[in-house]
Amino acid sequence: MGKLFDLEASGYFYSRLQNPTNDYVAARICALEGGTAAMLTSSGQSANFFAVFNICNAGDHVVCSSAIYGGTYNLFNVTMRKMGIDFTFVTPDCSDEELNAAFRPNTKAVFGETIANPSLAVLDIERFAKAAHDHGVPLIIDNTFPTPVNCRPFEWGADIVTHATTKYMDGHASGVGGAIVDAGRFDWFAHADKFPGLTTPDESYHGIVYAERFGKEGAFITKATAQLMRDFGSTPSAQNSYLVGLGLESLHVRMERHCKNAQAVAEFLESHEKVAWVNYCGLPSSKYYALAQKYLPNGSCGVISFGLKGGRPAAEKFMKSLKVAIIATHVADAHTCVLHPANATHRQLSEAELEKAGVPSDLIRLSVGIEDVEDIIDDLKQALETIG
Ligand SMILES: *Cc1c(COP(=O)(O)O)cnc(C)c1O
Repeated sequence: MGKLFDLEASGYFYSRLQNPTNDYVAARICALEGGTAAMLTSSGQSANFFAVFNICNAGDHVVCSSAIYGGTYNLFNVTMRKMGIDFTFVTPDCSDEELNAAFRPNTKAVFGETIANPSLAVLDIERFAKAAHDHGVPLIIDNTFPTPVNCRPFEWGADIVTHATTKYMDGHASGVGGAIVDAGRFDWFAHADKFPGLTTPDESYHGIVYAERFGKEGAFITKATAQLMRDFGSTPSAQNSYLVGLGLESLHVRMERHCKNAQAVAEFLESHEKVAWVNYCGLPSSKYYALAQKYLPNGSCGVISFGLKGGRPAAEKFMKSLKVAIIATHVADAHTCVLHPANATHRQLSEAELEKAGVPSDLIRLSVGIEDVEDIIDDLKQALETIG
């Protein structure tokens, strides 16, 4: 027991820190991403919080893509600012000059989403990784939407990957959960002054130096488990992790179907007279088409956004008329889900912030499920007929 508490041996002694089911599922996600260490958390929110807070203290700074999930934006822009951590948001399409100008001497990380929820902007991971590494900091990528089936950010230079397993990995809306995976490549000692939490003794563990004891491969996840999970307790229940593990069994089959269905739905919507615009990176009309071809050659995800010619009121009428698609906050699920973010997930944001986050107030987010694609399209067709 003493050795376990001193991190001298690995084993199980209290489920808040680690338990075998969680570790088993984390190891499978780790293998899918091609990482060296991983942990599960009780939500995607806690995964992103831990990933950033593990290397940032009060007084530190993060460069972040502005096209991110609304919950993450609030976490960073409101709650973590209160903790003394500052964020500079840059659009994923910013120039290299703008990106490099966002860094400060106290910058400790760069953060972005492979495919942003819900703006669907595709991040140029290689470009953001280069900027991060030129400034001696890691790139953290939230890879929730493509999943490692469609993109493995480590292959493009990312250092840490996070997930809301709540979405495709679980796949069946059975539980909220998150994951953090480390590529095991970032050299903390090469930038020792920036990352004292990993390169200087942790007095709460008898002076252990994480980057020394656990190396590049294990330091980040061990520290996040030993300190953050110990203190914040955002541990998933083993039962929820078991369900994520079941979801992983069919992830590769479901992702293929989601992408195939979404492509057909996007093409249908784009050709419909009542539809003003469609945003799906699998469409040649998308400004992210080229990036998607590079980073997501086998498909992106099942999520599409679009606007109707009738704007916000038409969107509300349309959504009420749907019979197969359900109105839900949830996304990336086996069932087709639909949401009007300006009325829901993003309602705290001002019009200007909505624009900046790539979520205009007329945007409808459609998360295409794995039902028969003809049923999905028929449903959209009849709902479109109800609007004037
Ligand atoms: C849903 C989501 C989150 C948050 O995950 P929760 O499990 O709901 O806390 C984070 N990032 C992305 C991209 C998401 O879609």
